[in-house]
Amino acid sequence: MKSKKYKILSLVILLVISLLLTAGCEQLLDRFIGYEQQLPTPNNEQDMIHNSEDDEEVPSDESDPDMEEQIQEEKPDSPQEPPEEEKPTGTTSVKVSVVGDIMVHLNQLKAAKQSDGSYDFTQVFQDIKPYLEEADIAMGNLETTISTDEIGYTAYPRFRSPESLLSALKGAGFDVITTANNHSLDGVEFGVINTLDKLDEYGLLHTGTARSPEERDRILMIEKNDIKIAILAYTYGTNGMESVVDQEKLSYMVNYLNDISKIEEDVQRAKDEGAEFIITCTHWGDEYVRNPNQSQKDFADKLFAMGVDVIFGSHPHVIQPTEKKTITTHDGQEKEVFVIYSLGNIVSNQRDRYRDSGLILNLEILKDYDKETIGIGHIDYIPTWVYRYTENNKLHYRILPVKDFLDDSFDAATNARIKEVWNETTSHLDNEYLKARD
Ligand SMILES: [Zn+2]
Repeated sequence: MKSKKYKILSLVILLVISLLLTAGCEQLLDRFIGYEQQLPTPNNEQDMIHNSEDDEEVPSDESDPDMEEQIQEEKPDSPQEPPEEEKPTGTTSVKVSVVGDIMVHLNQLKAAKQSDGSYDFTQVFQDIKPYLEEADIAMGNLETTISTDEIGYTAYPRFRSPESLLSALKGAGFDVITTANNHSLDGVEFGVINTLDKLDEYGLLHTGTARSPEERDRILMIEKNDIKIAILAYTYGTNGMESVVDQEKLSYMVNYLNDISKIEEDVQRAKDEGAEFIITCTHWGDEYVRNPNQSQKDFADKLFAMGVDVIFGSHPHVIQPTEKKTITTHDGQEKEVFVIYSLGNIVSNQRDRYRDSGLILNLEILKDYDKETIGIGHIDYIPTWVYRYTENNKLHYRILPVKDFLDDSFDAATNARIKEVWNETTSHLDNEYLKARD
C-alpha cells in the first residue's frame, strides 16, 4: 500500500517536472528566436532597430508567427545543398621532399658521442630542418641499421648506428624512411627487425624491408590533401650478407630490384588499393659515377611502363641527373614521368669532391579536379653540402643548404668550396624543367 502511494506521488512529481521543463524550454526557445531576430541581416534591419529600443523586454508571443514566416521565407534562398553532391573543383597538391643516402661513418659516430656516453645527431640536420618541414612528405634512405648499446655501434663496412639517429631524423621533419639498400642486412636479422621496431617507435613510416611476409606485402600508402600516394623501395643487393641470413626470412626481409615479378605485383597491389600516384625508390647504379648506366635507364623504363610515376634513385654517393618524359604504360596510358638517377649523400664522412654534396629534391604532386588528372607539378631542388669542422677538439657535421651560405660566412677555404659545390651541382642538374631554388 505504502509503495503504491509512493509510486503515484513519484509519477505526479515527474509529470510536474516535465511540464515545468517544457515550459522552460519554450521560454528559452522564445528567447533564442528573439535573439535570432536581432541578427543584422538585410531583411530584418527594421526589426533590429525596433528590438534595440526595448532591449530588456522578453519577446512577446506575438513575435513568434512573424518569425516563423520569416524562417520559411528564407529557406528557399539559403544555399543548403547536401554536401555529398558538391564536387571539389580547382586543384589540390602534395609536396614531397626527398634526400639521398643518410650515412653514419665512424667519425660521425665519434662526433655524435656525448660525454655521458649517449649519442646526439640533432645538430647535423638543423640547417635543413626548415626545408624538410615545408614538405607534406619528407623522405630519405637510411643507409645503416639501428643497433643497441649491448651489441654496439659500428661503421663501414657493416653499419650499425644508435637509435638517437632516428630521433634526430624525426626532429628534423622526416616522415618516411626507406630501408632497402645494400646495408639493409648489416645487422643481420636482428638489425632488420630492430631498425623497423625503432622506426615505429619514433613514428617514422618505412618501406623496403619487413619483419614478416605480411609486412612485406603491405603497401606504404599515404593519403594527404585528398591524394593517395604509394611508396615502394628496392635495392640491387645486400653486399653478400644475404648468404648469412635464414633463406626463408630473406624471402620477405629485403625488397630486391632483380625480383621483377614481385615489383610488378607490388605496383598492381598499389593500384588495386587506390594509389593515384606511385613513387619508387631504387638503390642502384655505379658508386662514385656521376651519370647513370644503361641498366639504370632500362630499369627506369620498365618501372614507368608498369605504372610508376616517379623514381628516386640512390647509392652512387654522388648526384646523377634527372629525366622527365612522356611515356605510354602497359595499359596504354600516356603520362609524364620523372626520375632522378641518384640523389647523392645527404650526410656522410666522405670528403672527396662530389661525395660531400647532395640535395633536397622538391616535387609537387598535382591533382586537377576539373580535368580529372593527377600528375607531376612543379619540381625544384636545394643543393646541400656537408660542412665538417673541428671545435673543442671534436669533429662536427652540419648539412648546409648551399644557397643560404653563399655569403662568405666561414673561412676562405670553406667559402670557396661552398661556391664550388653550388656550381658543380647546378651545372650538373639544371635544365629546361628543373632549376635550383635560389
Ligand atoms: Zn648504397
